[in-house]
Amino acid sequence: MFLSLCLSMPLAARTPTLDLQWSSHGGTYAEQRYSPAGQINTDNVGKLGLSWFFEFDTARGQEATPLMVDGVIYTTSAWSKVFALDARSGKLLWSYDPEVPGAAAAKGCCDVVNRGAAYADGKIFAGTFDGRLIALHAKTGKLLWSTMTVDSSKPYTITGAPRVARGKVFIGNGGAEYGVRGYISAYNTSDGALAWRFYTVPGNPDDGPDGAASDTIMRELVENTWSGDKYWVYGGGGTVWDSIVYDEELNQLYFGVGNGSPWNHRERSAGQGDNLFLSSIVAVDPDTGNYLWHYQETPAETWDFTATQQITLATLPVAGKQRQVLLHAPKNGFFYVLDRRSGELLSAEKFAPANWASHVDMETGRPVETENARFEKAPWLATIGASGAHNWHPMSYSPDTGLVYIPAQQVPFLYMEEEKFVYRPGSWNLGVDMMSAPPPESEEEKAAAKAALQGSLLAWDPINQREAWRIPHQTTWNGGTLATGGGLVFQGAADGYFRAHDAASGTLLWQYDTGLPIQPGAISYVLDGEQYVAVMSGNGGGFPLTLPAVDGPKRFPNGRLLVFNLGGGATLPSFEGAVAHLNPPERQASAERVAQGKNLFGLHCAQCHGVGTMSAGVLPDLKRSAALTSSAAWQMIVAQGKLESRGMGAFSQLLSLDEIEMIRDYVGERAQLAARAATPD
Ligand code: CA
Repeated sequence: MFLSLCLSMPLAARTPTLDLQWSSHGGTYAEQRYSPAGQINTDNVGKLGLSWFFEFDTARGQEATPLMVDGVIYTTSAWSKVFALDARSGKLLWSYDPEVPGAAAAKGCCDVVNRGAAYADGKIFAGTFDGRLIALHAKTGKLLWSTMTVDSSKPYTITGAPRVARGKVFIGNGGAEYGVRGYISAYNTSDGALAWRFYTVPGNPDDGPDGAASDTIMRELVENTWSGDKYWVYGGGGTVWDSIVYDEELNQLYFGVGNGSPWNHRERSAGQGDNLFLSSIVAVDPDTGNYLWHYQETPAETWDFTATQQITLATLPVAGKQRQVLLHAPKNGFFYVLDRRSGELLSAEKFAPANWASHVDMETGRPVETENARFEKAPWLATIGASGAHNWHPMSYSPDTGLVYIPAQQVPFLYMEEEKFVYRPGSWNLGVDMMSAPPPESEEEKAAAKAALQGSLLAWDPINQREAWRIPHQTTWNGGTLATGGGLVFQGAADGYFRAHDAASGTLLWQYDTGLPIQPGAISYVLDGEQYVAVMSGNGGGFPLTLPAVDGPKRFPNGRLLVFNLGGGATLPSFEGAVAHLNPPERQASAERVAQGKNLFGLHCAQCHGVGTMSAGVLPDLKRSAALTSSAAWQMIVAQGKLESRGMGAFSQLLSLDEIEMIRDYVGERAQLAARAATPD
């Protein structure tokens, strides 16, 4: 029902043309991210050009999938801002700023991003980074209601798009790296009142039942899969931060559950138990939230292997029988086909060279893990690590080709036991040592690090569970995909190119340099007989913030919404953005202070300013900060929050003034090393 068809023009005047909307996150409830529109096709896609673009007011990450309803594009930008634009011209109709406090930025692992809005009955629904769910009038942008969905004293954030069905809007949250307890909630679309809540992991047993829809299954099944005496202090994790899908055919709601908190199963649950519902797909009744079934992809999760990646629904012939299935390609590198009526596992095969498990045992439905994959004896190098073989970037499915198009990647990760795990409220709590593996320093190390990072557009045959074709990228952390009735698959990439491939063969047919990395999936819509393809572009998000930027920091323009059509002739402005110079201090700090500062930087700063201070430039490379050479300026920013409105909150509650100085000592030494490397004598 959601991809509605209607006649757009008076019948008498012209040839009737079918308009096509994109009115829910994945195109339809089934979230195949397939548009049947075929005006833009394999024959003419070479004539595709930019129709118009809209530039946002921020250079932070852009992860939204826009909606197109009745000639209006609704999209969200960083800091949870909502925009309504004329889908023909790009004219701004209204915008809404929920005024997320800048200090909230420090509660998120992966930038102040937002992956989109939901539409129903003339209302737009969106989550805000600080945990609110808001409803806006679709015509005017006026706030209709706002509900706080989280305990604001805890490091919860919302970055995912809500979904809406049957008079309810469904929303989860994030925060499992910091230590929270995951859940999903349903709110009435009419007034924002809570209809039900389902917790994904148990709470403190001393507190008794939650009074939530999950109470029965907690008691009967979930609690017995947890051990140890602190998991409720650590939160347990299991946040529902992205995928939520409503099944129109079976009236069921599915959601993907995130990683454990802390990551390390030995720290979290004394190394005992499967820890339901971490890294699982869970099905509930959308009206009541009552449990229906689950399938746990990674029992006793210990690698940050979330199951939050996009869920796609389809009907496929399996062993000669039409089955209503759920398709899933999570971080752990296996492609799963489940019977969505019952949750029965139909097949599971690797779509990436994941070395944590050899295969999934079809008798038990459980993965068969490899030696030392739990890094219990020694550090263990995973070919597929915490970034996942597929992250949040959505995949698509074409019923024409029968293929699933996965933005696949390979990001190795060295798992090491944290020597002495101490729970620290308000900072990363992983139980995995993120500081000991040194960032690449020499040119050789940098080249090796670059070569180890891979990305590809992977066409996967879900019936035969095998690769149909694969197009390698020069980059990793590439954009989501869109399949169309024109025989095309669209994908943007981290190199800034937006591309169209032949959906059957993978042949590259068209590309356009947008000048900005592209991460989300594109959409397509038809208005007045004209087909458009739209995609959001922008640097930022989790990966570019945290992982070492091998090539050093770069400056990019603000994020944009780009809309293409056949013959489009608009052009993008050129951009010259210079990176600030290195600002090494003159004085030399003691090795001991630098070492302590390094440790503190890893705990509190690296997730935004880059591991080992190797910033990609989305957020400042601190080696280049003007404040680096002034203790007073440094304290003003770090301790007192002078730049709080820009997302740099005050750390005086988490760090002493001397600890903040030690971080400055460490960054100062990094700046001195970088300056020496830049001017060899
Ligand atoms: Ca995670």
